[in-house]
Amino acid sequence: MNALAATNRNFKLAARLLGLDSKLEQSLLIPFREIKVECTIPKDDGTLASFVGFRVQHDNARGPMKGGIRYHPEVEPDEVNALAQLMTWKTAVANIPYGGAKGGIGCNPSDLSISELERLTRVFTQKIHDLIGVHTDVPAPDMGTGPQTMAWILDEYSKFHGYSPAVVTGKPIDLGGSLGRDAATGRGVLFATEALLNDHGQSIAGQKVVVQGFGNVGSWAAQLISQRGGIVVAVSDITGAIRNSKGLDVASLVKHVAENRGVKGFSGGDAIHPDSILTEDCDILIPAALGGVINKENARDIKAKFIIEAANHPTDPEADEILAKKGVIVLPDIYSNSGGVTVSYFEWVQNIQGFMWDEDKVNTELKTYMNRGFKDVKEMCKTHNCDLRMGAFSLGVNRVARATLLRGWEA
Ligand code: GLU
Repeated sequence: MNALAATNRNFKLAARLLGLDSKLEQSLLIPFREIKVECTIPKDDGTLASFVGFRVQHDNARGPMKGGIRYHPEVEPDEVNALAQLMTWKTAVANIPYGGAKGGIGCNPSDLSISELERLTRVFTQKIHDLIGVHTDVPAPDMGTGPQTMAWILDEYSKFHGYSPAVVTGKPIDLGGSLGRDAATGRGVLFATEALLNDHGQSIAGQKVVVQGFGNVGSWAAQLISQRGGIVVAVSDITGAIRNSKGLDVASLVKHVAENRGVKGFSGGDAIHPDSILTEDCDILIPAALGGVINKENARDIKAKFIIEAANHPTDPEADEILAKKGVIVLPDIYSNSGGVTVSYFEWVQNIQGFMWDEDKVNTELKTYMNRGFKDVKEMCKTHNCDLRMGAFSLGVNRVARATLLRGWEA
């Protein structure tokens, strides 16, 4: 199912559960603003290359819109719209004072040199600088972007508006980035997993874990989970997939990936077919790559008891139904991967206060937010007699609906 259709479907199911008025439902669904811009840059060889950039600002009822910027060949309007909407519910589930947005450029960043990426980022920023801002819309990293991308956006934005570090989060530490932000999404996945297992009277130690995707989120989640005694038995990325049923040495794997730009060729495990990663034998499956990977074609063959959604919308609604029948517990993206945006919020707060927190404070606060989020989601599950996905969606949608009604519509 198309990403936007899937996200809208989950939203509508939650709106029904909450008994939302149909006019309010409609207004929550339609994005606040959709921006599409042309970005042309000279390549290093002097030829021109044109790309299309997007920023979808979905909702600002609860505060400035917030969300990452993705550089990936699959960036297209429906996907960006779905991701922007998910950010609105995610920030509400985390109970941080933000709305939702998402942006991206349709490109393959590994085909571009550093200076080409810098030019592309600066041109994109020139096109959207009037529509973002500390109290309007605050971008952050996502797939294919990172602290350096944020530094370029900050620098370009500052040429027009003066130096304003809080206009982006996920910055390098030297430019006002937060300690702990780099690991935050992965650490949030760890806390989310612990909260879920604890609710089932279990702990991470001894659980067999499979991680699909070994970028920022997947690699941090794998490292932190293995440090807590979880046995990471298989991982994959675009270069390949590896398995070691006794447990991969995740610290050595991270080193291998840094030196070889991928998991392929890692000597501490056996190569397996990347297509089989999601259906490998394990207790916990962590999809940490692209959306829509768990679908009606493979859901029946999944062996995990728990799925922790570190990626955004990795599970198709049709797969959700199959997994529910099999008794697989799915911890949804808008809760599980909210650690990144939560620490982005801490970064923004530090920038506005002009005061830097130590890393322990960041991690302790993150744990508090993740545990509270889990409790709030479970409460909604009890109230509405629903699964965790609908618990999270109804929690997020209800908070945004309440803010919208309080603010009113008077022109
Ligand atoms: N891109 C991340 C996400 O999907 C982080 C967004 C942010 O920090 O604003 O949640």
